[in-house]
Amino acid sequence: MAVKAWDSSLTLPGLIVESRAVVDGTVEVSGRLASAGAICPDCANPSTSFHSRYDRTLSDLPVSGSTVRLRLSVRRFRCTHTSCQRRTFSEPLAPPVGRRYGRRVGRCDALVRAAAVALGGRPEARMMARLAMPWSRDTMLRVLRRGDPAAELPPPARVVGIDDFAWRRGHSYGSIVVDLERRQVIDLLPDRRRDTVIAWLRQNPQVEIICRDRGPGYGVAASEAAPQARQVADRWHLFENASAAFLAAVRSEMLCLRRALAPTGPVDPATLTRAERIQWDGAQLREALNR
Ligand SMILES: [Zn+2]
Repeated sequence: MAVKAWDSSLTLPGLIVESRAVVDGTVEVSGRLASAGAICPDCANPSTSFHSRYDRTLSDLPVSGSTVRLRLSVRRFRCTHTSCQRRTFSEPLAPPVGRRYGRRVGRCDALVRAAAVALGGRPEARMMARLAMPWSRDTMLRVLRRGDPAAELPPPARVVGIDDFAWRRGHSYGSIVVDLERRQVIDLLPDRRRDTVIAWLRQNPQVEIICRDRGPGYGVAASEAAPQARQVADRWHLFENASAAFLAAVRSEMLCLRRALAPTGPVDPATLTRAERIQWDGAQLREALNR
């Protein structure tokens, strides 16, 4: 009785195990899916019209240090719906069993992902091989890149920043949209056109605050598509504009500043930096020409 309870708790949900065997030190489990039929992926109509079956092999978590392989007998069904173009389709695997073209049982990916985060690359591959899960480094990287399907989706962005960025500097520009509360890029728009930004904002009516540059482009788009949102200038653009205004004011009053800094006579060129020397020579030249 105790063995039966242990056994059923290890069996994947939706899977009927038909046999187990140990072949060359590898535990081979044969099984099939428990469902009576399947739903056509094109027309979404159920079908129990059996067509054929084929075998798939998936790796599973090891048992007592031995590699485990699941040999799964997968059925193909006919789609009997008259208006559907599809003739046959294979039954889909439930997520705990595996992905459509996957080569591992679903519960392996969580372990691979955790090990990839902790160890990464070759150290992970070596550790997994010692744990009787000899998967390649590339396989583990693919699992990591695919992300965690069980992870919760983040809430829709409430505070966004919109700015332009260069696909290719000087040639083509797009727009970048950042969730400023999570500090993550959430979208890249193909261009800077007003219609493109308007379409994005209309798809995201939850946006409450839009942080943008001080040009009219994004502002007009935001006023039209998201009138409920408050528009603010971001800190980087404020500092950039203030810096440009300060430099322009200093340049326009350079001669007065020079005189104020050296009220008793001409500036000693030897005390100037190289950049200041170039500016000073230019100022002297202009002064001589205008005299
Ligand atoms: Zn169909």
